[in-house]
Amino acid sequence: MINQRLFDQYNINTKKDLKIKNLCPRPKDTILIDKMGSCYACECTSWLPQSIGNLQIKSLEEIIGSDMHQHLQSSITDGTYRYCNEHQCSYIKSGAVLHGRPDHVQYLRLAIDDSCNIRCPSCRKGMIFHKEGSAYNLGIRLADKINDWLYNYEHPIQVHIGSDGDPFASHVYRHFMEQTPQRDNIKYSILTNGLMFREFYKTVPHVINNLQELGVSIDGASKETYEKLRLGGRWKKILEGLECMTELKKKYNFRFSLHMVVQQENWHEVESMLELGRTYNVDRIYFNKIEDWNTGIDFESQTFTELEEFKKSIRRVSTDPIVCNNVATLT
Ligand code: SF4
Ligand code: SF4
Repeated sequence: MINQRLFDQYNINTKKDLKIKNLCPRPKDTILIDKMGSCYACECTSWLPQSIGNLQIKSLEEIIGSDMHQHLQSSITDGTYRYCNEHQCSYIKSGAVLHGRPDHVQYLRLAIDDSCNIRCPSCRKGMIFHKEGSAYNLGIRLADKINDWLYNYEHPIQVHIGSDGDPFASHVYRHFMEQTPQRDNIKYSILTNGLMFREFYKTVPHVINNLQELGVSIDGASKETYEKLRLGGRWKKILEGLECMTELKKKYNFRFSLHMVVQQENWHEVESMLELGRTYNVDRIYFNKIEDWNTGIDFESQTFTELEEFKKSIRRVSTDPIVCNNVATLT
């Protein structure tokens, strides 16, 4: 049954009809699993917040293709998109909904452990790290269930690790990567803060061998800004991590990207971030505007998007081929 209260909370009108002709492939090709085991048929829980089943009580075989899964898919095929969050989904907002008719899951997004070795003010109020206890035990159980499912999955699939915590700091993700089945149909995409990469990548050779994308979240292009916004991170260490990744990219040929959460304290480093990206031979840079994750940030003071200097910076970087084209939406 649809959880109407959840949709009300996100201000999603479930009676709307967006009359979209394209068939968004996400409800068929993507499964996102959160740290409670809830599974979602989209790449972001706030875009399509209805769970299609819980991995604590059901298997992925039972969840995929379940009545709820099919019901959500029908809201795409009838063009209404009534369960989608038109205020947040970036495809709907940009008027560029994807089109495809996949017949099986191609992307698995893991958000099963929010442990991290640092505490960015834009992401959390304090340190979150699970090395034991109920959250850790649940994370390990979910990781094992996902690996069991992957072991028998025969179609090509990409597993994304790092939507919520850091893949190399998290003991749950390290366990997942150490135990993941060694199968050529399974590829990986990782988003990390990069600080523990150099220390731990050698412990998961199968994942590195099959890595398609390595993203590094880095919110400053100078020591001062970086260490202010990535609380607990060290500039020297991130540069060592980037150097190591640049070397590995030559061997493993993964797509290498930088991700910057643009905010009041770092907007002036947008152009230096592009320089940093060139120095480390990255393929892509994503600039994303800070979002309110209820971490106590004063959003009234985030006035940088109004600044002429910022707008000029964005115009200058937006023509560079390695800058992701969503950059224009920042101003
Ligand atoms: S349109 Fe957006 S919210 Fe809806 S399923 Fe696709 S990606 Fe998700
Ligand atoms: S590195 Fe990523 S997961 Fe860790 S605190 Fe910062 S934004 Fe959150």
